[in-house]
Amino acid sequence: MKAVCWHGKHNVQVDTVPDPQILNPRDAIVKVTLSGICGSDLHLYNGKVPTMKEGDILGHEFMGEVVEVGSAITSISRGDRVIVPFPIACGDCWYCQEGLWALCDNSNPNSWMLEKLYGDTGAGIFGYSHLYGGYAGGQAEYVRVPFADTGLEKVPAELGDEKVLFLTDILPTGYQAAENCNIRKGDTVAVWGCGPVGLLAMKCAWHLGAGKVFAIDRFPERLEMARMHCKAETLNYEETDITEALHNMTGGRGPDSCIDAVGMEAQGTGFEAAYDTVKQTLHLENDRPIALRQLIKACRKGGTISVPGVYSGFVDKMPMGAIFAKGLTLRAGQTHVQKYLRPLMRLIETGEIDSSFLITHRMSLNDAPMGYELFDRKQDGCVKIVLRP
Ligand code: NAD
Ligand code: ZN
Repeated sequence: MKAVCWHGKHNVQVDTVPDPQILNPRDAIVKVTLSGICGSDLHLYNGKVPTMKEGDILGHEFMGEVVEVGSAITSISRGDRVIVPFPIACGDCWYCQEGLWALCDNSNPNSWMLEKLYGDTGAGIFGYSHLYGGYAGGQAEYVRVPFADTGLEKVPAELGDEKVLFLTDILPTGYQAAENCNIRKGDTVAVWGCGPVGLLAMKCAWHLGAGKVFAIDRFPERLEMARMHCKAETLNYEETDITEALHNMTGGRGPDSCIDAVGMEAQGTGFEAAYDTVKQTLHLENDRPIALRQLIKACRKGGTISVPGVYSGFVDKMPMGAIFAKGLTLRAGQTHVQKYLRPLMRLIETGEIDSSFLITHRMSLNDAPMGYELFDRKQDGCVKIVLRP
């Protein structure tokens, strides 16, 4: 079969590889019909996640048709049209039973790699390095789905692929990001990053009762999408001092909650110079211009910082003093996709939430290398690319 494979930094290729096989009784094989490229894939593309091996198959946002099931699978059968949540989860362990699917204890055989450093680590993820289990991903013609009885969700025939694909990752991720803000009716929510995750977090913030939503980015097309589709007031961080503007626009208090939908690859905000004196005084020479520091500064006292944006390893010089002094709550992590599938599917069915507006580019699997380049550079108005094998 054909698959999108990682060959090093900024190098993905479409290779011919062996078809996946059933390895365990709880496996299924899915023939992929649609597969997204995610902002998280860019961390792999940009060489920010260690333990990638040459030839690893990428992709964790995909759906398709079941073509084969293992002997222990009774809940799904050949021919079912399904979506596949990105965290691989057994459904039986303490974490799965608690609904913390992305923290499953039994799906990441390589969790030992991070246990020494972090104390513990998360579930296996399709196509997301050997730190997350080394599973082959879904930017391919076929994929093996472990724990298929908990990992697959059937899709109603009347909902087209593009209506439901983002249930596999970014729609639940936007939802969890907003839910983690504990929004009270009328709250002000500011979202850093107008990529797919940020935009869906804005939509979900309204759904959960926000009274005002601010959107921060630098790309005019993305800011336009935030205004058009997510009713957000927008701020360009290359033109505006974000902290100051947000304070002025919230009566001097700051937003009730701030969402970091950027992650570890944040671009400079253009205001690093303002911190030069502080940097010298505090010897912050390794300081990186992460957006998270700006969120912490902008958030109102007692507010919440929600971090769907991906971080790995250590972030230098976190302003712990500010988190303490302002009494902030910080919530982060991979999304427990399985927990949100059914409620969000219902919102799609009733038309309350539609995430298909994000798709700016449709490509064949063969064009994936061009797709990665375009998405990484945010060229040609690119917000979200879907691949059709
Ligand atoms: P994306 O790359 O399309 O969007 C990121 C956006 O952030 C871009 O528009 C970029 O211009 C903007 N940005 C960069 N620096 C900024 C700054 N200093 N201030 C404000 N905006 C800035 O990616 P995406 O698909 O929307 O994903 C966003 C993040 O969410 C990524 O880190 C991704 O890995 C993560 N993610 C997490 C989960 C999860 O389970 N927690 C799931 C999916 C994606
Ligand atoms: Zn993703």
